[in-house]
Amino acid sequence: MNAPTTATDKKVVVLDTSAFVAGFDPFSIEGELFTSPAVKEEIVENSMSGVRFRTAVESGKLKVKMPSEAFIDRTKSSATVIGDKHLLSETDIQVLALALELRTRGSSPLIVTDDYSMQNVANQIGIEFASLATFGIRLRLQWLRYCPACYRRYPADSKTGICEICGTKLKRKPLKKYRLNLNCPTNISNEGLERRKQKH
Ligand SMILES: [Zn+2]
Repeated sequence: MNAPTTATDKKVVVLDTSAFVAGFDPFSIEGELFTSPAVKEEIVENSMSGVRFRTAVESGKLKVKMPSEAFIDRTKSSATVIGDKHLLSETDIQVLALALELRTRGSSPLIVTDDYSMQNVANQIGIEFASLATFGIRLRLQWLRYCPACYRRYPADSKTGICEICGTKLKRKPLKKYRLNLNCPTNISNEGLERRKQKH
């Protein structure tokens, strides 16, 4: 199952929420894109990223796929081993598990994320990743954790995943984004992706 990928494997890109919200254009790169149902839930429908997301899905460029339970379990175990599990949301786990599943099915996945914990776990399970800066995006997201039942808010880095008041599992949403560098290139070709892909 952990056989090394070869040059003949089909390259696919797996995107997390930060990619869409920060302005990643699905049509800016070649090949198939994947994401998970939880990512879809985190994207505000009537926003720029929501429109971009829907267009990509309708055109068949982007596929929303739920990873099987077996891959979710494997991802959680790996995250636990390196001590990052409490930093990952359900969404993060889904995205990582999806990449793992795609690899098992013969593709060569690249996860696009700015989340350090996700990058750590990707590294642990042997999945390649690239930061949004690879695509010329210099936006950082600030997340808000909240309880979907009583709407109490929690800091984005809160270690607990459960609402203190009512015990409901917390959700998160992008609060705002800010640009790190105004003078950066905003477009990058697929060649750039190949060249700048991070390896650890
Ligand atoms: Zn609550």
